[in-house]
Amino acid sequence: MPVKEERIIEVLTYGGPERRLAYKVRDTTRGYTGPGALVRVPLMNRSCLALVCEGLGEDVPLANKLKYVHEGLYDEPILTPDLIVLAQWLTRYYAAPLTSTLETVVPAPVRAIMSPKTTRLIELAHHPKPDELDALAKKAPRQAELVRFLMQQDKPISRPLLLSRLKLAPTSCDALVKKGLLKELVRDESREAYADDLGDEESATVGEVTLTEQQAEVLLDLEASLQAREFRPHLLHGVTGSGKTEVYLRLIENVLAEGGGAIFMVPEVALTPQTLGRVRSRLNKIGEKVVVWHSHLSAGERADGWMAMARGEAKVVVGARSAVFAPIPNLRLIIVDEEHEPAYKQAESPRYHGRDVAVYRARLCGALCVLGSATPALESLYNVESGRYRLNRLTRRVDDRQLPTVHLVDMTREKLNPKGAVTISNILADKMIERFEQQEQSILFLNRRGYNTSMLCPECSHVAECPHCSVTLTYHRTDERIKCHVCGYQERAPRRCPKCGSAKYRGRGYGTQKIEETVQKILPRARIMRLDTDTMTKKHLFRKILSDFRTGKIDILVGTQMLAKGLDFPNVTLVGLVDADIALHVPDFRAAERTFQLLVQVSGRAGRGDKAGEVVVQTFMPHSPPIQYARRADFEGFLQEELDQRRDFHYPPFRHLVRHLFRGRNPEKVNFYAEQWSRLLEEKLEAEIEIRGPAPAPLEKVKDTYRFHLWYFVGNVSRVLPMITALRQDFPMDEEVIDVLDVDPVDLV
Ligand SMILES: [Zn+2]
Ligand SMILES: [Zn+2]
Repeated sequence: MPVKEERIIEVLTYGGPERRLAYKVRDTTRGYTGPGALVRVPLMNRSCLALVCEGLGEDVPLANKLKYVHEGLYDEPILTPDLIVLAQWLTRYYAAPLTSTLETVVPAPVRAIMSPKTTRLIELAHHPKPDELDALAKKAPRQAELVRFLMQQDKPISRPLLLSRLKLAPTSCDALVKKGLLKELVRDESREAYADDLGDEESATVGEVTLTEQQAEVLLDLEASLQAREFRPHLLHGVTGSGKTEVYLRLIENVLAEGGGAIFMVPEVALTPQTLGRVRSRLNKIGEKVVVWHSHLSAGERADGWMAMARGEAKVVVGARSAVFAPIPNLRLIIVDEEHEPAYKQAESPRYHGRDVAVYRARLCGALCVLGSATPALESLYNVESGRYRLNRLTRRVDDRQLPTVHLVDMTREKLNPKGAVTISNILADKMIERFEQQEQSILFLNRRGYNTSMLCPECSHVAECPHCSVTLTYHRTDERIKCHVCGYQERAPRRCPKCGSAKYRGRGYGTQKIEETVQKILPRARIMRLDTDTMTKKHLFRKILSDFRTGKIDILVGTQMLAKGLDFPNVTLVGLVDADIALHVPDFRAAERTFQLLVQVSGRAGRGDKAGEVVVQTFMPHSPPIQYARRADFEGFLQEELDQRRDFHYPPFRHLVRHLFRGRNPEKVNFYAEQWSRLLEEKLEAEIEIRGPAPAPLEKVKDTYRFHLWYFVGNVSRVLPMITALRQDFPMDEEVIDVLDVDPVDLV
């Protein structure tokens, strides 16, 4: 008789009660049950999902009588060992429950075990002899009809299609299979997201590329770190158009040649097709599969992509923030492109920063982490200064193309123009006309959608405000409505002041819709398109507009900042920044940094082809430091001035900031609990943190909920955060008050 073998494993249950427990596994148990496996276990009379994670450090208490694991859900691990450690770090650092962390790391379709998409096909097993067919026709005429139909086909036919075409019941088909006349085939159809993105016109231009001297130097240095396998993140600071992507591609090829894998992160879902196209067109040549990863994929695409990585079939992933959790075995390289982008921060729990998680994961795996940007975040530059990161620079554009000329327009002077409020300055209008006549393209940026920013009555000063939020309503001319950009509330735009009835009630301030209209007046013959979240409601419209712009079917593009991110149009020779001051008015200590970055990024969109580019920047504050430094492209100067300021105020990157937001329907109650809590914290952790507040958040009311926040300045987050979390667990918070901790926040409204 064979001896039954058993072993004990440690699991982390989640989805229900979250616990670390031990179970027994029989050697006959179905599926993979080793480290990183997803298993089903019995727990309190229920069947629970759990992750097998051994060697986490602390010992798991062994119960007297261990139960048996029901089954392993897959035939291979769904997580690499480093991901389990990473999930635990996320839980501690970002003060998030392990359940929500694991749900972020392991995507829902994988947890839900999707059956792979299969198609059932039908074909003839053999051609029936005439008498065989006659006999069938007498007994079952419908079945004979089916056989005759199939005799005329030259390839297998989808079963559902066949049944609906001949209006047959499934039983007749099954009966014929049983009789051996028909054969059923099951074909596995893997859903590869964007499988059609094998090479658009852009990727086609990337042929055999010779590296510039600078690129070659940088690549050599990065390769040295790759080989050294020690923890040493690199910051790749390259001016726009300096060929960072080519450096990334070579690194990926190197890693693949040694059997390793790579993660390539981009900040926006919208940017993935462009990057994916370039990566795929390169790697397809050497027969490597590339997975695309972001939240807009279907559940099936996510499940298939994830398992392709877990099985080692695909070693490279291109994706947005959550690609940082890709289960790539032998991970050797993580690229975080446009690392300064706030979009890398997740807005819901766990509120993690994709870039910072990438750095930590690289450390766990002994992988090389490359953070790339034309405008690095101050935090990253500070990490270079303090010796934690190594800096590589690409200061010249490929083919030595010139950086564009920047014209600053002082809008306070333009305002003197007797015709009233000016949205497009004379110089910008003239240059647009010039470009149009030369058949070159222009882009105008304005980070404000809608037509007017608010409605104001000049007689009684009434301003249209959202009834649920502390913001003004934005007028949208396209559908004659006023809308709240925070909660989505909307109503018909009134013609008269709702308070005093004045007919002079009108809009003020301008958004992308008004700019589009103004540009059309300046250039009636030009083809103009607007690109903002209002035009993004239709699927694929974004890609269509971009492709029309690329192929020259559009002359002028008006859009919000999303356009500024990494897009590359060779025929764009003019970029206009309609209002450079928007970010300066935001109550955020990063206002200057954001303004500087926006200007540099936006300028980078001009002159990427053979023709020189020009940039027109409209501002009411032409002498403010970020605008002046950006105009001169003086990175060092800006960095030093901004770092000095941050140091004086003890702001990040010199200390970490933690934002603690309290919200609820009753403002007095919310404020009261925030105060009580801050007193407790002051008493217990005075030596560890500096507390500011509570104060009403800049956006005080959202959807009828009042918001107050506290700011904590912390030296060592990993040490202090667990203390705060522990105190919070024992604090008697009112059930109508909800509080949220945000570590290293990027959004302070
Ligand atoms: Zn009025
Ligand atoms: Zn609202």
